[in-house]
This record gives sequence, structure tokens and C-alpha cells, in this order.
Amino acid sequence: MDKIKKIGVLTSGGDAPGMNAAIRAITDKAIEQGLDVVAVLGGYSGLINDKVVPMTMDTVNGIIKRGGTCIYSDRCPEFATEEGMQKAIATCKKHKIDAIVAIGGDGTFRGATDLSLHGIPTVGVAGTIDNDITATDYTVGFDTAMNTVLDALDNFMDTCESHARCNVVEVMGRDCGDIAVRTAIASGAIAVAIPEVPFDEAEALDRIKRARAAGKRGMIVVVSEGVFHTDENGNKIPYGEYFTEICQRDIMETRFARLAHFVRGGNPTLRDRLTASRMGVRAVELLLEGKSDLIVIEEDGKYVPMDIVFALTTDRMYKKKLKDGDLDKYGDEDIAAMKAICDKRTAEIKELYKIANDIAL
Ligand code: ADP
Repeated sequence: MDKIKKIGVLTSGGDAPGMNAAIRAITDKAIEQGLDVVAVLGGYSGLINDKVVPMTMDTVNGIIKRGGTCIYSDRCPEFATEEGMQKAIATCKKHKIDAIVAIGGDGTFRGATDLSLHGIPTVGVAGTIDNDITATDYTVGFDTAMNTVLDALDNFMDTCESHARCNVVEVMGRDCGDIAVRTAIASGAIAVAIPEVPFDEAEALDRIKRARAAGKRGMIVVVSEGVFHTDENGNKIPYGEYFTEICQRDIMETRFARLAHFVRGGNPTLRDRLTASRMGVRAVELLLEGKSDLIVIEEDGKYVPMDIVFALTTDRMYKKKLKDGDLDKYGDEDIAAMKAICDKRTAEIKELYKIANDIAL
């Protein structure tokens, strides 16, 4: 591979606080290494539609503390087509972009591996509030999102205490209960429902009843958006809405709140800025070492590269979404490594769920 002279940075999929810190780290590190840097605006759609702007130390000055992504994000199904890919490659050629750092979630990484396979070296940085990329202990945006949820839960609790009320609060996370279970523990919630562990509805309702009878006034129930109730007609109802109804009907005054995209915004915490900076720097280093088709993951406090398809396959294994042939190219050792990552995740979420319930009195 020829020496890299210019790199492009893009953010794709759902935005997350700390993406700007990653953009700034990537830009400054690349400039420090003598590279030119450009931003591709709006993720992969910017590659298709030729939206490329130069990045300088001035452009990134001050963005480290801002939420969202200053180079915008988008969902771009066209990028998954060969035609879209060819347009993207033409844009890279036109602007002499030798390599790309793509910041985003699992969809972004599927695009990144496609780009790598089409001859544009690409490295990914895990940026999503959901922490739903199994292979990494941590994703950029997760900490800020949890703190934003925690502030909201504390506020709900204040008013619940005043009025002897229960508030069911639905939080983001897609199929991943990480935000829900951690904020439930940290806010002193009476119950939490996450997709990974079966929810004992009768026990939770009984617990609320007992707590109320014992004089507890304010109650918070945290529900991950990935949990649903299926009614008699087969309709899927967000579980938080359903639980609110039965709690209101059978036990006490209960309100429902969906925090939704509110949780995506806000200035990134120190943890997110630090992680974004470390992952961003590592991504540039990997490209300069001539590497490609990798994401930077956090593993037991270290920032290390992982093959993208390995990471995506591990993710599907954990989410029980493996497709036929997914494991064909892997030997026993690789498969054992994937299983170990999945087991670590499962053990962690189960432990957190148990703690949340053990201290929810
Ligand atoms: P996230 O990265 O947060 O998971 P998405 O799933 O929306 O968000 O993916 C972001 C973008 O990545 C998509 O809009 C699309 O451009 C690209 N992408 C997703 N899946 C694929 C795929 N299978 N092949 C190529 N590109 C993809």
C-alpha cells in the first residue's frame, strides 16, 4: 500500500456525544503526523454526494466539549449498493482520500468493511450511546447518555416523592439493556426491564405494592426500549407503556415517560471525551501502520484493534442472529474467542441485573 497522505473522517448512523472529541483527536493526530485531513459531511451519504471539506486545527478548535457531530450524520441505504459504493470510491479518488476513519455503530462498520474491501483502507471508532457493540467494553457516548438519563431519573424521583407516584421511564438502547440497568442501579429504581433477562412482572408489581405499603412514596421503573409486550392480537406494545397501565390500574398512580432522543444530546462527559480521544488517535496510528478493516475497541482498559467482520460476527453471536455460513471461515480458536466475549457480556449484564433487583426495595 502507498503511504497515506490524506485521510477522511466521517460520522454515520445515530449521533453520540463524544463524536466531536473523536473527530478532533483524529484531525489533530493526523495533522501532527503530517497528513492532510478532510471531513465527509453526513456520513456515507457525503461520500456518495461528494460533500467533502478540509479539516484544520482551527476547524476542530473547541468542538471537544460539544454534543452531536459537527460533521453531521445520516442514514444512507444507497451506500449498501454497488452503485452507491462506486460513487463513494469516485469521491475518494477525486479528493485523493487515501484512507477513512468511520465513527458510528454496527451499521457504520458494515459500511467500513465494504469500503476496505473496495480498496479504501478504513478503520472504525465505536460511537453509539447504546453500548450495543458486543466486542467492545465501551462505546463513545455511552457514559454521557447514562448521566443524562440519571439526571432525568433523579428529577422524576423528586416529583414522585412529593406526590407518592410511580414513574415508568423508557430509555434508549435498542436491543441492549446497558443504559437501563446501570441507570436503574444508580437512581435507586424499584424495578428494571431489559431485553437480555426475562422480567418477572408479577414480582415487580408485588415489590412496588410492598414498598408502597411500607411507606415508600417515590418509585422509578426503568424500561429499555427493546422490551415489548405482545397482546392477544399479536401486537407488540412498548413494555413501559404496558407496565404503566397495569401498575396504574392495580397499584398506584403511575405515569409514563419516554426520554427518546433527549438522551442523545448534551456535552460529552470526561469519560466519553477521553475514550473518543484514545480511540481516535489509535485509529490514525493503525492506518499509518498500513492496517485496514479494523475497529478500535476497549478491552479491559486497553484500546486495541479488532477485525471488523470478527466484531460483527461476535455481535450476531451474542444477539443470537448468526446467519448460515457466518462461522465458516473461522477456526475453533476464533470461535472460542467470540464465545468468550459473549460470555463476558452475558455475565456482566446478569450481574448488574441481579444487583439492581437485590437493592431495589
Ligand atoms: P449505526 O452505525 O449507528 O448502527 P446504521 O445501522 O443506520 O447506524 O448504519 C449507518 C450507515 O451505515 C447506514 O446508513 C449505511 O449507509 C451504512 N450501512 C449499514 N449497513 C450496511 C451494509 N450492510 N453495507 C454497507 N453499508 C451499510
